[in-house]
Amino acid sequence: MATLKLRNVKKRFGSTDVIHGVDLDVADGEFIVIVGPSGCGKSTLLRMVAGLETVSGGEISIDGKPVNDLEPMDRDIAMVFQNYALYPHMSVYDNISYGLKIAKTPKEEIAARVATAAKMLQLEPYLQRKPRELSGGQRQRVAMGRAIVRKPAVFLFDEPLSNLDAKLRVQMRLEIKALQKELGITSLYVTHDQVEAMTLADRMVVMHGGVADQIGAPLDVYANPATSFVAGFIGSPA
Ligand code: ADP
Ligand code: MG
Repeated sequence: MATLKLRNVKKRFGSTDVIHGVDLDVADGEFIVIVGPSGCGKSTLLRMVAGLETVSGGEISIDGKPVNDLEPMDRDIAMVFQNYALYPHMSVYDNISYGLKIAKTPKEEIAARVATAAKMLQLEPYLQRKPRELSGGQRQRVAMGRAIVRKPAVFLFDEPLSNLDAKLRVQMRLEIKALQKELGITSLYVTHDQVEAMTLADRMVVMHGGVADQIGAPLDVYANPATSFVAGFIGSPA
C-alpha cells in the first residue's frame, strides 16, 4: 500500500523557475503517465520525487509521510532510467541484487527475489552474463528487475523505452502493462510517446513549461483538453 502526494512542488535552478508548483495525488497502485514536450520539467519532477534533486518549495509525501528531507535510499522508491544505468562489470544477477545487498537483505531472500523477478522478466537464461552481452530490451529488463526486487512503495520510470527500436518498444510496453497488473505498484511514468501514455495510464498528466496543464483519464484528456496547449499536444480537435 502506498500513496504519493505532491503539494505545490517547485524547482528553481539558479534564477530560473522550471517547476511552478505541481499538485498531484497518486492513489495506491495507480499508474500515472506524465507527458509533455522536451524541457517542460518531467525528469526534474521525477528526480525530486526520487530525492536526486532537492525541492525548492512544496512537499512530497509517501503514505502521508513527508520525504523532502530523506535521502534517496530511505524513500522506498525505485527508478528506471532511459539509459538503464547498469554496472558494466557486474553480472545480470549482481546488477539485479545490488540494492538488496546494500540493504543487507539475507542471501537466501535475495536469491528468491531475483529468481522471481528473472522469471517475470524472462531473464533466467542470462543471469550470469554481463550487460554488454545483452540486447537493449534485455538490458532494460535488467533495469526493471533491479527495481522490482526491492518491492518499492513507488516506481518511477523516466522514458524507459525511448532507446529501443519501435518493434521492441511495443513488446516492452505490453510487458510493462502486464507487470503493472501483476504488481500493482504506485507508479509515475514519463514518456513522450502518446500511444505508450494512452495504453499504460490510469490517469495522465500533461505538462507544459513546468506546469501540470491537465490531469485526467487518457480518454477524458483526449476528448476534453483543458487548454489549447493540451489540445495541440494530444492532437485532438480543441
Ligand atoms: P524534460 O525531462 O521534460 O525534458 P527536464 O526536467 O530535464 O525536462 O528539464 C526542465 C528544465 O530544467 C530544462 O529547461 C532544463 O534545461 C533545466 N534543467 C534540468 N536540470 C538542470 C540542472 N541540473 N541545472 C540547471 N537547469 C536544469
Ligand atoms: Mg527528461
